[in-house]
Amino acid sequence: MPWSPTRKPGSSGAPRSTEPGRPTVGQALDLATARLRATGVPEPRADAAVLLAWVLGVPRARLAVLRDDPLPPEIQARFGAAVARREAREPAAYITGEREFFSLPFYVDRRVLIPRPETECLVEAVLQRLQGGPPAVGSPGPTGEAAGGGWLVDAGTGSGAVAVTLASRLPWLRVLAVDLSAGALAVARRNVERHGVGGRVRLVQADALEAVGAPADGEPSVTAVVSNPPYVARAEWAGLPPEVRDHEPRLALDGGGDGLVVVRRVAAGAARVLPPGGWLALEVGAGQAPAVADILREGGFGKVEVLPDLAGIPRVVVARRSGPA
Ligand code: GLN
Repeated sequence: MPWSPTRKPGSSGAPRSTEPGRPTVGQALDLATARLRATGVPEPRADAAVLLAWVLGVPRARLAVLRDDPLPPEIQARFGAAVARREAREPAAYITGEREFFSLPFYVDRRVLIPRPETECLVEAVLQRLQGGPPAVGSPGPTGEAAGGGWLVDAGTGSGAVAVTLASRLPWLRVLAVDLSAGALAVARRNVERHGVGGRVRLVQADALEAVGAPADGEPSVTAVVSNPPYVARAEWAGLPPEVRDHEPRLALDGGGDGLVVVRRVAAGAARVLPPGGWLALEVGAGQAPAVADILREGGFGKVEVLPDLAGIPRVVVARRSGPA
Protein backbone atom coordinates (compact mmCIF):
# COMPACT_ATOMS: atom_id res chain seq x y z
CA MET A 1 0.00 0.00 0.00
CA PRO A 2 1.33 3.45 -0.84
CA TRP A 3 2.68 5.21 2.19
CA SER A 4 0.72 8.35 3.06
CA PRO A 5 2.19 10.15 6.03
CA THR A 6 -0.09 11.99 8.36
CA ARG A 7 0.81 15.60 8.69
CA LYS A 8 0.34 17.51 11.89
CA PRO A 9 -1.32 20.87 11.31
CA GLY A 10 1.29 23.54 10.85
CA SER A 11 4.04 21.01 10.31
CA SER A 12 4.88 22.13 6.78
CA GLY A 13 7.74 24.58 6.53
CA ALA A 14 11.12 24.07 8.13
CA PRO A 15 12.47 20.50 8.25
CA ARG A 16 11.50 18.71 11.44
CA SER A 17 14.26 17.74 13.78
CA THR A 18 14.60 14.00 13.44
CA GLU A 19 16.17 11.28 15.50
CA PRO A 20 19.60 10.22 14.30
CA GLY A 21 19.27 7.61 11.57
CA ARG A 22 15.72 8.69 10.83
CA PRO A 23 16.07 11.10 7.90
CA THR A 24 13.32 13.09 6.24
CA VAL A 25 12.31 12.28 2.68
CA GLY A 26 14.38 15.25 1.47
CA GLN A 27 17.44 14.20 3.47
CA ALA A 28 17.20 10.62 2.24
CA LEU A 29 17.01 11.90 -1.34
CA ASP A 30 20.08 14.10 -0.88
CA LEU A 31 22.05 11.29 0.75
CA ALA A 32 21.19 8.78 -1.98
CA THR A 33 22.01 11.34 -4.68
CA ALA A 34 25.45 11.85 -3.15
CA ARG A 35 26.04 8.08 -2.97
CA LEU A 36 25.02 7.54 -6.60
CA ARG A 37 27.09 10.52 -7.78
CA ALA A 38 30.15 9.15 -5.97
CA THR A 39 29.85 5.83 -7.85
CA GLY A 40 29.60 7.60 -11.22
CA VAL A 41 25.90 7.08 -11.96
CA PRO A 42 25.15 9.50 -14.83
CA GLU A 43 21.92 11.06 -13.48
CA PRO A 44 22.17 10.57 -9.72
CA ARG A 45 19.40 12.95 -8.64
CA ALA A 46 16.84 11.71 -11.15
CA ASP A 47 17.55 8.05 -10.34
CA ALA A 48 17.47 8.62 -6.58
CA ALA A 49 14.08 10.30 -7.02
CA VAL A 50 12.74 7.47 -9.19
CA LEU A 51 13.78 4.89 -6.58
CA LEU A 52 12.50 6.89 -3.62
CA ALA A 53 9.12 7.53 -5.25
CA TRP A 54 8.94 3.82 -6.07
CA VAL A 55 9.59 2.61 -2.50
CA LEU A 56 7.12 5.20 -1.20
CA GLY A 57 4.52 4.16 -3.77
CA VAL A 58 3.90 7.76 -4.83
CA PRO A 59 4.34 9.64 -8.12
CA ARG A 60 7.70 11.39 -8.37
CA ALA A 61 6.07 14.82 -8.23
CA ARG A 62 4.88 14.05 -4.66
CA LEU A 63 8.43 13.94 -3.30
CA ALA A 64 8.63 17.73 -3.04
CA VAL A 65 5.44 17.78 -0.98
CA LEU A 66 6.71 15.03 1.32
CA ARG A 67 10.24 16.33 1.72
CA ASP A 68 10.01 17.28 5.41
CA ASP A 69 8.26 14.10 6.48
CA PRO A 70 10.30 11.44 8.26
CA LEU A 71 10.97 8.30 6.29
CA PRO A 72 9.44 5.25 8.01
CA PRO A 73 12.19 2.75 8.96
CA GLU A 74 10.91 -0.06 6.74
CA ILE A 75 10.79 2.32 3.75
CA GLN A 76 14.27 3.52 4.60
CA ALA A 77 15.56 -0.06 4.55
CA ARG A 78 13.94 -0.79 1.18
CA PHE A 79 15.29 2.48 -0.21
CA GLY A 80 18.79 1.61 1.00
CA ALA A 81 18.61 -1.75 -0.77
CA ALA A 82 17.38 -0.15 -4.01
CA VAL A 83 20.13 2.49 -3.92
CA ALA A 84 22.75 -0.22 -3.31
CA ARG A 85 21.54 -2.03 -6.47
CA ARG A 86 21.78 1.20 -8.46
CA GLU A 87 25.28 1.80 -7.02
CA ALA A 88 26.20 -1.57 -8.51
CA ARG A 89 25.06 0.04 -11.80
CA GLU A 90 21.90 -1.99 -12.21
CA PRO A 91 19.52 0.13 -14.34
CA ALA A 92 16.75 1.83 -12.36
CA ALA A 93 14.10 0.28 -14.63
CA TYR A 94 15.13 -3.24 -13.55
CA ILE A 95 14.91 -2.21 -9.90
CA THR A 96 11.44 -0.68 -10.23
CA GLY A 97 10.32 -3.18 -12.90
CA GLU A 98 8.90 -0.45 -15.07
CA ARG A 99 9.76 1.80 -18.02
CA GLU A 100 7.55 4.09 -20.04
CA PHE A 101 7.60 3.79 -23.82
CA PHE A 102 5.46 5.88 -26.16
CA SER A 103 3.50 7.06 -23.08
CA LEU A 104 2.62 3.48 -22.08
CA PRO A 105 4.03 1.73 -18.99
CA PHE A 106 5.92 -1.52 -19.65
CA TYR A 107 7.02 -4.19 -17.21
CA VAL A 108 10.73 -4.93 -17.60
CA ASP A 109 13.28 -7.15 -15.92
CA ARG A 110 16.76 -8.41 -16.73
CA ARG A 111 15.42 -10.85 -19.33
CA VAL A 112 14.75 -7.96 -21.76
CA LEU A 113 16.43 -4.86 -23.13
CA ILE A 114 14.97 -1.73 -21.53
CA PRO A 115 12.97 0.20 -24.15
CA ARG A 116 14.93 3.26 -25.32
CA PRO A 117 13.65 6.67 -26.40
CA GLU A 118 15.29 6.25 -29.82
CA THR A 119 13.17 3.16 -30.45
CA GLU A 120 10.12 5.43 -30.32
CA CYS A 121 11.39 6.76 -33.68
CA LEU A 122 11.17 3.25 -35.09
CA VAL A 123 7.53 3.01 -33.94
CA GLU A 124 6.79 6.50 -35.29
CA ALA A 125 8.19 5.58 -38.70
CA VAL A 126 5.98 2.48 -38.91
CA LEU A 127 2.89 4.33 -37.66
CA GLN A 128 3.30 7.04 -40.28
CA ARG A 129 3.40 4.43 -43.02
CA LEU A 130 0.58 2.20 -41.79
CA GLN A 131 -1.94 4.56 -40.26
CA GLY A 132 -3.90 4.83 -43.50
CA GLY A 133 -5.27 1.36 -42.79
CA PRO A 134 -4.37 -2.09 -44.05
CA PRO A 135 -2.70 -1.53 -47.41
CA ALA A 136 -3.50 -3.81 -50.31
CA VAL A 137 -0.17 -5.47 -50.94
CA GLY A 138 0.88 -8.56 -52.78
CA SER A 139 -0.27 -10.21 -55.93
CA PRO A 140 -4.01 -10.47 -56.55
CA GLY A 141 -5.70 -13.37 -54.81
CA PRO A 142 -7.79 -16.04 -56.56
CA THR A 143 -10.80 -13.73 -56.71
CA GLY A 144 -8.82 -10.99 -58.42
CA GLU A 145 -8.54 -8.43 -55.64
CA ALA A 146 -5.22 -7.71 -53.98
CA ALA A 147 -4.61 -9.75 -50.86
CA GLY A 148 -5.29 -7.62 -47.80
CA GLY A 149 -2.19 -6.94 -45.76
CA GLY A 150 -2.73 -7.09 -42.06
CA TRP A 151 0.15 -8.78 -40.31
CA LEU A 152 3.18 -7.07 -38.91
CA VAL A 153 6.13 -9.14 -37.73
CA ASP A 154 8.27 -7.78 -34.90
CA ALA A 155 11.55 -9.69 -35.10
CA GLY A 156 13.21 -9.74 -31.66
CA THR A 157 10.34 -8.33 -29.65
CA GLY A 158 12.03 -8.35 -26.23
CA SER A 159 9.70 -6.61 -23.75
CA GLY A 160 7.10 -6.35 -26.53
CA ALA A 161 7.20 -2.53 -26.34
CA VAL A 162 7.24 -2.08 -30.13
CA ALA A 163 4.66 -4.81 -30.83
CA VAL A 164 2.25 -3.66 -28.11
CA THR A 165 2.52 0.03 -29.01
CA LEU A 166 1.84 -0.64 -32.70
CA ALA A 167 -1.05 -2.99 -31.91
CA SER A 168 -2.66 -0.48 -29.58
CA ARG A 169 -2.28 2.39 -32.05
CA LEU A 170 -3.46 0.43 -35.11
CA PRO A 171 -6.66 -1.43 -34.18
CA TRP A 172 -6.77 -3.37 -37.47
CA LEU A 173 -3.25 -4.68 -37.12
CA ARG A 174 -2.34 -8.24 -36.19
CA VAL A 175 1.17 -8.69 -34.87
CA LEU A 176 3.45 -11.69 -34.82
CA ALA A 177 5.99 -10.93 -32.11
CA VAL A 178 9.00 -13.22 -32.34
CA ASP A 179 11.89 -13.71 -29.97
CA LEU A 180 14.54 -16.37 -29.51
CA SER A 181 14.44 -15.96 -25.73
CA ALA A 182 11.70 -17.72 -23.74
CA GLY A 183 12.36 -15.30 -20.87
CA ALA A 184 11.77 -12.31 -23.12
CA LEU A 185 8.53 -13.83 -24.40
CA ALA A 186 7.31 -14.23 -20.79
CA VAL A 187 7.92 -10.51 -20.24
CA ALA A 188 6.28 -9.63 -23.57
CA ARG A 189 3.24 -11.74 -22.64
CA ARG A 190 2.83 -9.77 -19.45
CA ASN A 191 2.91 -6.50 -21.40
CA VAL A 192 0.56 -7.78 -24.10
CA GLU A 193 -1.97 -8.74 -21.43
CA ARG A 194 -1.48 -5.54 -19.47
CA HIS A 195 -2.38 -3.47 -22.52
CA GLY A 196 -5.24 -5.68 -23.66
CA VAL A 197 -3.90 -6.52 -27.11
CA GLY A 198 -3.66 -10.29 -26.59
CA GLY A 199 -6.32 -10.95 -29.21
CA ARG A 200 -4.14 -9.45 -31.92
CA VAL A 201 -0.58 -10.13 -30.81
CA ARG A 202 0.75 -13.66 -31.20
CA LEU A 203 4.01 -14.50 -29.44
CA VAL A 204 6.31 -17.06 -31.02
CA GLN A 205 9.70 -18.39 -29.96
CA ALA A 206 11.93 -18.38 -33.03
CA ASP A 207 15.06 -16.90 -34.56
CA ALA A 208 14.54 -13.75 -36.65
CA LEU A 209 11.94 -14.54 -39.35
CA GLU A 210 12.42 -18.30 -39.54
CA ALA A 211 8.92 -19.03 -38.21
CA VAL A 212 7.25 -17.00 -40.95
CA GLY A 213 6.27 -18.43 -44.32
CA ALA A 214 6.55 -16.79 -47.73
CA PRO A 215 3.44 -14.97 -48.98
CA ALA A 216 0.88 -17.24 -50.62
CA ASP A 217 -1.78 -16.14 -53.09
CA GLY A 218 -5.04 -15.29 -51.41
CA GLU A 219 -3.54 -15.49 -47.92
CA PRO A 220 -3.41 -12.39 -45.73
CA SER A 221 0.01 -10.87 -46.34
CA VAL A 222 2.67 -9.63 -44.04
CA THR A 223 2.35 -5.85 -44.39
CA ALA A 224 5.50 -4.91 -42.55
CA VAL A 225 8.50 -6.28 -40.74
CA VAL A 226 9.89 -4.21 -37.90
CA SER A 227 12.97 -4.95 -35.83
CA ASN A 228 15.25 -3.44 -33.25
CA PRO A 229 17.87 -6.15 -33.68
CA PRO A 230 21.01 -6.58 -31.59
CA TYR A 231 23.48 -4.28 -33.35
CA VAL A 232 26.40 -3.62 -31.01
CA ALA A 233 29.67 -4.45 -32.82
CA ARG A 234 32.38 -6.44 -31.07
CA ALA A 235 34.75 -3.45 -30.96
CA GLU A 236 32.11 -1.34 -29.18
CA TRP A 237 31.45 -3.83 -26.43
CA ALA A 238 34.09 -2.64 -23.96
CA GLY A 239 32.94 0.97 -24.31
CA LEU A 240 29.31 0.32 -23.35
CA PRO A 241 28.08 1.79 -20.07
CA PRO A 242 28.17 -0.79 -17.24
CA GLU A 243 24.36 -0.62 -17.00
CA VAL A 244 24.12 -2.01 -20.53
CA ARG A 245 27.19 -4.24 -20.71
CA ASP A 246 26.84 -5.92 -17.32
CA HIS A 247 23.06 -5.99 -16.83
CA GLU A 248 21.12 -6.05 -20.09
CA PRO A 249 20.78 -9.32 -22.04
CA ARG A 250 23.68 -9.92 -24.38
CA LEU A 251 21.38 -11.69 -26.83
CA ALA A 252 19.49 -8.41 -27.32
CA LEU A 253 22.66 -6.37 -27.92
CA ASP A 254 25.40 -8.42 -29.54
CA GLY A 255 25.35 -7.94 -33.30
CA GLY A 256 28.50 -9.99 -33.95
CA GLY A 257 31.82 -8.80 -35.42
CA ASP A 258 30.61 -5.75 -37.36
CA GLY A 259 27.30 -5.46 -35.49
CA LEU A 260 25.29 -6.33 -38.60
CA VAL A 261 25.11 -10.13 -38.39
CA VAL A 262 21.48 -10.16 -37.24
CA VAL A 263 20.56 -7.21 -39.50
CA ARG A 264 21.61 -9.30 -42.52
CA ARG A 265 19.49 -12.24 -41.32
CA VAL A 266 16.44 -10.03 -40.74
CA ALA A 267 16.89 -8.33 -44.13
CA ALA A 268 17.09 -11.68 -45.93
CA GLY A 269 14.08 -13.01 -44.00
CA ALA A 270 12.06 -9.87 -44.73
CA ALA A 271 12.86 -10.12 -48.44
CA ARG A 272 11.47 -13.66 -48.32
CA VAL A 273 8.25 -13.02 -46.34
CA LEU A 274 7.23 -9.59 -47.64
CA PRO A 275 5.26 -9.23 -50.85
CA PRO A 276 6.17 -6.38 -53.23
CA GLY A 277 5.21 -3.11 -51.52
CA GLY A 278 5.70 -4.50 -48.01
CA TRP A 279 7.63 -2.37 -45.53
CA LEU A 280 10.78 -3.13 -43.57
CA ALA A 281 11.78 -0.81 -40.71
CA LEU A 282 14.98 -1.36 -38.75
CA GLU A 283 16.62 0.42 -35.87
CA VAL A 284 20.36 0.72 -36.41
CA GLY A 285 23.38 1.80 -34.38
CA ALA A 286 25.19 5.13 -34.78
CA GLY A 287 27.14 5.08 -38.05
CA GLN A 288 25.50 1.90 -39.38
CA ALA A 289 22.78 3.45 -41.57
CA PRO A 290 24.78 3.62 -44.86
CA ALA A 291 25.90 -0.01 -44.57
CA VAL A 292 22.38 -1.16 -43.69
CA ALA A 293 20.91 0.83 -46.59
CA ASP A 294 23.36 -0.98 -48.92
CA ILE A 295 22.37 -4.37 -47.50
CA LEU A 296 18.70 -3.58 -48.16
CA ARG A 297 19.25 -2.26 -51.70
CA GLU A 298 21.22 -5.38 -52.59
CA GLY A 299 18.60 -7.57 -50.89
CA GLY A 300 15.58 -6.63 -52.98
CA PHE A 301 14.39 -3.41 -51.40
CA GLY A 302 13.84 -0.16 -53.30
CA LYS A 303 13.58 3.41 -52.06
CA VAL A 304 15.55 3.15 -48.83
CA GLU A 305 15.02 6.01 -46.38
CA VAL A 306 17.13 6.89 -43.35
CA LEU A 307 15.48 8.76 -40.46
CA PRO A 308 17.24 10.53 -37.58
CA ASP A 309 16.43 10.11 -33.88
CA LEU A 310 15.83 13.07 -31.56
CA ALA A 311 19.59 13.48 -31.10
CA GLY A 312 19.98 13.78 -34.90
CA ILE A 313 21.68 10.38 -35.23
CA PRO A 314 20.58 8.38 -38.32
CA ARG A 315 18.66 5.72 -36.40
CA VAL A 316 15.92 4.12 -38.48
CA VAL A 317 16.18 2.61 -41.95
CA VAL A 318 12.88 2.09 -43.77
CA ALA A 319 12.59 0.33 -47.11
CA ARG A 320 9.93 -1.10 -49.38
CA ARG A 321 10.10 -4.50 -51.02
CA SER A 322 10.47 -3.93 -54.73
CA GLY A 323 8.77 -5.77 -57.54
CA PRO A 324 5.47 -5.48 -59.37
CA ALA A 325 2.86 -4.54 -56.79
N1 GLN B 1 20.59 1.10 -28.07
C1 GLN B 1 21.33 0.05 -27.42
C2 GLN B 1 22.60 0.63 -26.86
O1 GLN B 1 22.78 1.80 -26.93
C3 GLN B 1 21.60 -1.07 -28.40
C4 GLN B 1 20.32 -1.73 -28.71
C5 GLN B 1 20.46 -2.80 -29.76
O2 GLN B 1 21.47 -3.44 -29.94
N2 GLN B 1 19.38 -2.97 -30.42
O3 GLN B 1 23.38 -0.04 -26.29
